[in-house]
Amino acid sequence: MPNAAALVVTNARVYTADPMRPWAEALACTGGRIARVGRAKAVEGLIGRDTETMDAGGRLVLPGFIDAHVHLIWGYELGSWIDLTDRPSLRETQRRIAAHAANHPGEEILIGHGFDYASLQPSGLPGKADLDAAVSDRPVLLSAWDGHTGLGNTKFVERALETMASLGREVGQMQRDPRSGEPTGVFHEAFDLTPHLPEVRRRRSLDGLRRTIGTASRLGITTAFDVQVNLADLPAYEAFWKAGELTVRIRAALYHPPDTPRSEYTAFVQARDRPWDDWLRVAAVKLYIDGVQETGTAALLEPYTNNPASRGSTQYPVDTYTSIVEELDRLGFQMCTHACGDRGVRIALDAYEQAGRVNGTSGRRHRIEHCENLSGEDIPRFVCLDVVPCMMPRHSSPDLTTRWREAVGTDRTARGFPWRGLADSGAHLAFASDWPVADLNPLVGVQEAVGRTDGEGGPSPHRLSVRDAIDAYTRGAAYACQAETSRGALVEGFYADFVVLTHDIFERPVDQVREARVVTTAVGGRVVYQESAKSDGPSRIEKEG
Ligand SMILES: [Zn+2]
Repeated sequence: MPNAAALVVTNARVYTADPMRPWAEALACTGGRIARVGRAKAVEGLIGRDTETMDAGGRLVLPGFIDAHVHLIWGYELGSWIDLTDRPSLRETQRRIAAHAANHPGEEILIGHGFDYASLQPSGLPGKADLDAAVSDRPVLLSAWDGHTGLGNTKFVERALETMASLGREVGQMQRDPRSGEPTGVFHEAFDLTPHLPEVRRRRSLDGLRRTIGTASRLGITTAFDVQVNLADLPAYEAFWKAGELTVRIRAALYHPPDTPRSEYTAFVQARDRPWDDWLRVAAVKLYIDGVQETGTAALLEPYTNNPASRGSTQYPVDTYTSIVEELDRLGFQMCTHACGDRGVRIALDAYEQAGRVNGTSGRRHRIEHCENLSGEDIPRFVCLDVVPCMMPRHSSPDLTTRWREAVGTDRTARGFPWRGLADSGAHLAFASDWPVADLNPLVGVQEAVGRTDGEGGPSPHRLSVRDAIDAYTRGAAYACQAETSRGALVEGFYADFVVLTHDIFERPVDQVREARVVTTAVGGRVVYQESAKSDGPSRIEKEG
C-alpha cells in the first residue's frame, strides 16, 4: 500500500487545537508528520502491513505541550540543590543548609533554590550572617523562587567580590549597606553573577541536562523555548543535537546582560545563522527591562503601595533600551523582554512600536515575558503591534504572591495576570512554566489558569476555559516560538508531536486537572516517553494489520 502510514493512533479522543476542526477520533503519521487526522474510518484506511498502531484506549490525545519560556540550561546547574520550594522559615532553611553540607562534604558550593520572600522573613530579607550561622566554611547561595534574588553567606560574598575584581565590574546587582558600604549578602539579579563563578560552571554536566530533557519528555513537553541561553551554553545543546539525542525540540533565545557591548551582536548573528534544524534553533534575544514586584524592582506606572517613594526601576535608561531593541530588530532578531510591572510592559511595547517604525519591519513577533501587571490601556496594543504576551499561570497563585500583593495593593492585584482580557482582545496568549522558577509540569499551569480564584474563593474574572488554557500551552506557544506553521496543533502536514493523557481534562473538575498524567509523548511520530507497563496504559501493538 503506497500511502500506508508509519504510525496510526486509534480509539482516541483527539483535541487538535485547530479551530476549524477541533475534535477527531484518530490520527496517522508518516515521515514524522501528521498524514491524516479525523474520523476513525478515514484514518484506518492508512493502516498497512508495516504500520505500527497505537490503541489510545479512548483517552485524550493533545498536541504536544510547548513550554514558551523555560530555563533548561539554567536549571541543570542546580545539580544536588537544597530544595526550598516548600517555603520554609529562616530557621528551617538554616537547618537544611547545615544538613546538606554534612551530607555533601565534597561540594565546593552549596546552592539552595526556591525560597519565598515572606516565609523566610516576614519583613525584609536575612543577611549573610544568617547563612554563616548554618555554614561558614564554604560558599552558600540561596535563590528566591523567582530566580532573581540571591542570598549569599560571607564566603559567597568573598567569591563574588573576587570574581567582580577579575571582571573589572560589578555584576548581579549586589546590595550594600547604605551606611557602611559593606555587602549585605543580597544580590538582586544573582543570575548575572553565577555564570561567572567557576565553581558554579563546574557543577554543570551533560548528565544533568540529559535528566532535565528526560523529565520534560515525561511531562509531555515536545518543544521548549529556552529563553536565556548564554553563548557559552550553546555547545551543551549542540552536543545533544549532533548526537541526535534530543527528545524535545529546543528553540533558544540568547541572553543579553545589561552590559553587553554592541560588538557582541556579530556573535549573536553568527549563532543564529548556523544551519540549525527544527530540533535546535537559535532565534531570539532576551533582555530585561525591569525586575520583580516582590523586591520593588519591577517598574510601575504608580508608586508601590508598600513603598510610596518608589515606582521601581529599569535596568537601562529607556532611550538606551529602545535603541538596543531597534538595533536587534534591524538585525532580524525576535526580542523577548522581561517586564513584570505595568511601566516595564509599556516601555517594551513603545520600543517595539518604535523599532517597527524605524526599521519598517513587521512579522518579528516580539514578546513580553511575564506581563504580570499591565494597564488596561495597553491590552489592545498586543494585537495591534503583533506582540506576544508570554505568561506563567503558576506565578499568579495565591500561595506564591503574598509579597507581590503587599507591594502593589488590592486594585492592582485584582488586575494582575489578565489572561482573559488578553485572550479576548485577540492576542496570541502563550503559556509557559519558567522552570526552575515554577513546576515544569504543563498541567500544573493549566490547573492554575482554569481554577484561578478571586482571592475570596470565587472564580477569578481572569480564569480561562480548559480549551483556552490548552491552546495557550500549544497553539499560542507555537506562535510565540514563530513555529505555528509546523506545530502547536494536530493538523495534516504538521509535526506528529502529541501526548496521550490518563484523564480527559475537559471533563475533570477544575481543581483536579493536575492529577492527570502523560502516558505517552511522541515527537515527530516517534514515542520518546511511555509510562511503564501498567494495566491501564494504552496498548501498543507492533506491526498490526
Ligand atoms: Zn524566566
